[in-house]
Amino acid sequence: RVDAEVQGLRFVVDKLLSAQMPVLSWWAVVTVMTRASTTITILSIFTAGIALNQRGMTSIGEIVMFVSFATMLIQRLEQVVSFINSVFMEAPRLKEFFDVLDAVPAVRDRPDAVDPGRLQGRVEFNDVSFSYDSKRPAVANLSFVASPGETIALVGPTGAGKSTAVALLHRAFDPQSGVIRIDGMDIRDLTLSGLRRNIGVVFQEPLLFNRSIAENLRVGKPDATEEEMRLAAGRAQALDFIERGEKKFDTHAGERGRMLSGGERQRLSIARALLKDPPILILDEATSALDAVTEAKVNAALDEVMKGRTTFVIAHRLSTIRNAARILVFADGRVIESGTFSELLANVGHFAQLAKAQFMTQESTEADPSLSRTNPAVEIRPLSLGN
Ligand code: ADP
Repeated sequence: RVDAEVQGLRFVVDKLLSAQMPVLSWWAVVTVMTRASTTITILSIFTAGIALNQRGMTSIGEIVMFVSFATMLIQRLEQVVSFINSVFMEAPRLKEFFDVLDAVPAVRDRPDAVDPGRLQGRVEFNDVSFSYDSKRPAVANLSFVASPGETIALVGPTGAGKSTAVALLHRAFDPQSGVIRIDGMDIRDLTLSGLRRNIGVVFQEPLLFNRSIAENLRVGKPDATEEEMRLAAGRAQALDFIERGEKKFDTHAGERGRMLSGGERQRLSIARALLKDPPILILDEATSALDAVTEAKVNAALDEVMKGRTTFVIAHRLSTIRNAARILVFADGRVIESGTFSELLANVGHFAQLAKAQFMTQESTEADPSLSRTNPAVEIRPLSLGN
């Protein structure tokens, strides 16, 4: 690839130079003219000064004074020119800066929004539709109710609208039609901070800041004590690796948490959710390959964090799907089937087909996770049922 990349770079540089050349040539002409006119001005003052001096009409002092004045004036003019120049050069960047400054967030507090305090966690989607591009719906006519403490599993192929549906719940976007209610209140009537305080989110690829582990954990609960953090980390199976580090909770996570492994990052983000202790939880189960021991730990942590919360889980594990109070099967932004695991299997519909083809083979391997390392049929299973 080296030759091809060098060739590619050369092409880009050529393009850049040919775009810059006209500007640079013009710039060179202007610079030469500016310098030349400066020199000519000073020389003219000298020449005129000498001629006038010879006729006795001016003194040497006056000539020197004129030259000084001219130099000062020229300096000022040059400053003005370079200022105007830099304004032109920076104009596109200034425009970008003001575009960002002037951006109005699509989702913001209504003037009469209220802080709901701690919610119970009864979630209701009522005929909710949302489209990113106003053409093709990402989520269409979505309706369901989740009682407090229930686990709702979202399954379906990639691009079916699962992530979009849960993003609507924490108001990453507002639906174009339909209403989402929590404890009977339209979420658009709640303040964003009040709503989001009640919702924990654990992503597959968690967002960690380039700060210490403690600061990363405190994102959800800024006043958490050391003891609370230890407890949450313990429940999330994260305490062992934190304690192993020299600086323990003061260990830096690195840019995007890259000082930690994938499994560690995930357990930290689970610990963060536990610390926040929200009544509603959104979680996206990992599909990325973890080794068997780490996977078992992450799964144990996930089971722990789901306890007693209304949980929406983009599910890839058979055990999650089995234990869910309801499974919503997504396809093309719609829920095409819903029910418990046994109901859906009895239906002999879409889910039953998927489950039989792909993940009933997991049954035997879930008891012994090491088997899943050697069984390729199980390895590809999450890809077909989720992201
Ligand atoms: P899933 O979580 O089931 O994989 P998503 O909710 O991510 O599905 O995607 C639903 C549809 O919306 C897909 O067609 C996807 O391409 C589209 N989509 C998702 N996120 C965006 C985005 N930020 N901008 C535009 N389209 C998006």
